[in-house]
Amino acid sequence: AVKRIREELVAGGTLSLGTLADTLALDDFTEVYRLADQVNEEVNHGVVRIRAILEFSNVCRRQCRYCGLNCENKKLERYQMGEDEMVQTTLAAYRAGYQTIVLQSGEDPYYDKEMIGRVIREIKARCGISITLSLGERTKEEYAYWKECGADRYLLKHETSDPEIYAALHPCGTLENRIQCLRWIKELGYETGSGFMIGLPGQTCDTIAGDILLLRELSCDMAGIGPFIAHPDTALKDQPNGSTELTKRAVALSRILMPHLHLPATTALGVLSQGEKSDVFSCGADVVMRKVTPGAYRRLYEIYPSGLGLDDDIVKGRMELEDAIRQLGKQPL
Ligand code: SAM
Repeated sequence: AVKRIREELVAGGTLSLGTLADTLALDDFTEVYRLADQVNEEVNHGVVRIRAILEFSNVCRRQCRYCGLNCENKKLERYQMGEDEMVQTTLAAYRAGYQTIVLQSGEDPYYDKEMIGRVIREIKARCGISITLSLGERTKEEYAYWKECGADRYLLKHETSDPEIYAALHPCGTLENRIQCLRWIKELGYETGSGFMIGLPGQTCDTIAGDILLLRELSCDMAGIGPFIAHPDTALKDQPNGSTELTKRAVALSRILMPHLHLPATTALGVLSQGEKSDVFSCGADVVMRKVTPGAYRRLYEIYPSGLGLDDDIVKGRMELEDAIRQLGKQPL
């Protein structure tokens, strides 16, 4: 498999859908993991980048079939953080050593163009932290305005590259629009993050190969690849969770195909297996996110059941994560 990968990369600088799909389905993936780790070492030199994530609202106007935040879930108590609270939490993360804050929410129209713009400007006026936005699908004008205000990156996973699977899971959106948003984001000069889930109904190795190739076609700078986790209050409650092994394989192949892509060890992978989340740093991952969402809100940002702790101490959280990274023989940044 590694020989075939090397030959294709040398010949055409890319991998075919067939090679990616066949490799994903191998009985023994050891050699491919080894190659991904080598590429990761050459590019990232053992560095793991830590990002803080602030989940500032769990209100969402969309109905994504897999997501606990979808607007049809009437059991979920909703919250919206205020502008000052968002800025203060970001400043606390900056003081604790974080160099990036990810501001994430459901698709919540309450936070309009000006409001998000004010938060970005205020944060940038008060500290040097990089800002990643993850607010879903918005207009090109809004993306452009937030870039002008100082936002650095935007994270919008394409979720699945298969139009039929996408349509079945998203009653109020199209894959076409999602991809259009990603193209605008890239064109506007954001560092662009996409990604997808492993284990969606109807997905095959061909679908995942298509997902990996789409990351490349969009010239993504970052990609979150995580397993689907069933949420009891959604339409997919009886669907099995995604495979952690297949998740790691998709991360490894993405590293080999796109050596400079930032690849987080996703929270969802850690929810299914802490061990495999650690493992994925030797399969190509170079980024990890840590929640800095105030404890009172954290349990309400339930995309999927996580069982994660509600510890509110941002400084302690950062130190624990740095220690865990060092124990893996890596260097936290
Ligand atoms: N609203 C924004 C958006 O659509 O990009 C950001 C928030 S959304 C909740 C963040 C990500 O959660 C999605 O991109 C999706 O991949 C992931 N997600 C949602 N439900 C999930 C589930 N049941 N299992 C795993 N990941 C899930």
